[in-house]
Amino acid sequence: MRKIGVIGGGLMGSGIAFHLSSKLEDSIIVHEVSEEAFTGTRQRFDRFGKNAMKRGADESTVGSWVNKIDYTTNVEDLTDCVLVIEAVYENLQVKQEIFRKLETVVNEKTILATNTSGISISEIGSVLTHPERLIGTHFFNPVPAMKLVELITGIHTSQETIEEIKMFCEKIGKEVVVSNDFPGFIVTRVGQAMMCEALRCLEQGVATVEDIDKGMRLGYNYPMGPLELIDLIGLDTELKIQQSLFEELGEVFRPSPVLKNMVAGGLLGRKSGKGFYNYQ
Ligand code: NAD
Repeated sequence: MRKIGVIGGGLMGSGIAFHLSSKLEDSIIVHEVSEEAFTGTRQRFDRFGKNAMKRGADESTVGSWVNKIDYTTNVEDLTDCVLVIEAVYENLQVKQEIFRKLETVVNEKTILATNTSGISISEIGSVLTHPERLIGTHFFNPVPAMKLVELITGIHTSQETIEEIKMFCEKIGKEVVVSNDFPGFIVTRVGQAMMCEALRCLEQGVATVEDIDKGMRLGYNYPMGPLELIDLIGLDTELKIQQSLFEELGEVFRPSPVLKNMVAGGLLGRKSGKGFYNYQ
């Protein structure tokens, strides 16, 4: 049996770990900064499990998926992983530090992947001795339900790594698109431009939260409006994504003061129970 590591058991890391466990025989191990962080990870597994049961999975099967997942706060437990997917905060230095440390414990063949929504893969990989095995695997939230993985190739990512990850994505039932290493790649860049404009409409009093979302849902046939989507992403994560795109691509992505205030006030969207909408 092979072992796959996931670094970060937050919203995305727990979704990735749950989905991999449900689709693969491999054992899955989640690495976090502290034992306390796993409380949230386990709660999210419960939620993903309930959703899987609504889609027809039986309770014992879902239980076996969750039981197959191990937890660690020690990066050395990832030594024998064939693949490690990083899903921690959207911050270049934090991600680089993780990969720098990770490379000292895994072997040369281990494929390293990052779930970044917009940071350059080449920059993250610049701290690696073997950047050819680093690739962006941008999963979408909620991971078990969303079909897409956007693959991002860094300047040194090898063809072998791309092919291996394409096969892996097929095995876990995902479709892929491949993007070159430009800020925001395809999906974040185009989608975030819309979310930033929606926030500006709100700031300028163009319309209400509800009407901005309804307009985009019905006018473009989107399943969800941009502000609802920010609630789902998490306003803190959204702010980090905008800050990073603003640095790279400029004015279109200037972080919204409304968003900054809401994050400062702890209104983080669904995960905190309140954002643009109330979930309590
Ligand atoms: P999150 O804040 O929910 O989770 C991040 C987790 O990483 C936290 O649990 C934290 O304790 C953990 N962590 C931080 N430093 C760590 C370390 N050194 N070692 C191990 N764990 C560590 O964030 P998220 O929403 O899951 O986002 C994670 C990544 O996925 C980001 O790069 C984000 O841009 C990207 N992403 C997010 C979404 C979304 O909808 N939220 C969608 C696609 C991609």
